[in-house]
Amino acid sequence: MIFTAAENRKFHVSPVIAGFLAGGFLFMARTKGPAGILLFDRFLPGLGWLQIGLIALYAGFVSHLLLTRKDTSKIRLRIWNLFSLIFFSQLLIGLFVSKTFLMSGTLHIPVPALILADPLYEGTGFFMPILFISTILLIGPAWCSYLCYFGSWDGVAASRKSSPAAYNNRWKALRWTVFFIVILTSLAFRIFHASMMTAVAGALAFGLIGIILMLTLSRKKGFMVHCTSYCPIGLLGNILGKISPFRITIDTNCLFCMKCTEACRYNALTIENMQSGKAGSTCTLCGDCISSCRKNSISYSFLRLSPEKSRILFTVLISAVHAAFLGIARI
Ligand code: SF4
Ligand code: SF4
Repeated sequence: MIFTAAENRKFHVSPVIAGFLAGGFLFMARTKGPAGILLFDRFLPGLGWLQIGLIALYAGFVSHLLLTRKDTSKIRLRIWNLFSLIFFSQLLIGLFVSKTFLMSGTLHIPVPALILADPLYEGTGFFMPILFISTILLIGPAWCSYLCYFGSWDGVAASRKSSPAAYNNRWKALRWTVFFIVILTSLAFRIFHASMMTAVAGALAFGLIGIILMLTLSRKKGFMVHCTSYCPIGLLGNILGKISPFRITIDTNCLFCMKCTEACRYNALTIENMQSGKAGSTCTLCGDCISSCRKNSISYSFLRLSPEKSRILFTVLISAVHAAFLGIARI
């Protein structure tokens, strides 16, 4: 993507805005959320503001990288993995060393499907669904390419192959089938008063099958089989993500060289999608396709904003939300 001098100037203010936004999110979490939500406050009482400052700097740095570097797909995967690493490190330390590292002091199973299944089974646990929908309102389906602690593993698995295999209707059918199985099983557990042990065993088995899918099919196919064909939250993210005006669009000057298709691990760029000028329903707004196009034919769009302004807006928002998640990542 080629930028004008005016756009390059905007890049200088974009990291500052991303930093302020991330700082603002954490400030709200610190004042309105549970006590000790920030790591620094837990171990260095009163110094939470220092963590807010560091996270704000990090948000600015990430948005600067995403706006100015060409290898954005690598940067995205690295920051996503960093989030997952910090999330699961805190979980393990919380389980085996000190409960101070856990959010509520009690264990929740870190399988994304529970965002949907938990409220259906228990009638409680609405924090994660509300968080999920809030991010959808801000940045569409990008939960599944920047924010999910689990999906980054699938991203790594798929990236082992240089280009993805074709996505077909069998994968789509599997996705909807799993979605309904999760809903019906959760409701059945509730109606028939299944014990917590049974529910936990079901959740662990679901997560384990997901990991096996990543280690086998995602690695073999080169696309994110777990996230595009198994996880019900991925499907919900894609459907509800349409609420957000952010889209990926393909310009009429596209040469159909299909370089972007090779870059897309969510299989959202088939020839039909390209011809229609829009990414497919599995798009998560990851942006990997944008830097792969030498003609600048593929871009973010947001209402009437230009592609460049849309990209800057998306990058500022996603950098701020990602950094804020990093600042409070624990379970
Ligand atoms: S599809 Fe599921 S596991 Fe994958 S990124 Fe989305 S919520 Fe996470
Ligand atoms: S179409 Fe582009 S932005 Fe959408 S998932 Fe594929 S690579 Fe990511």
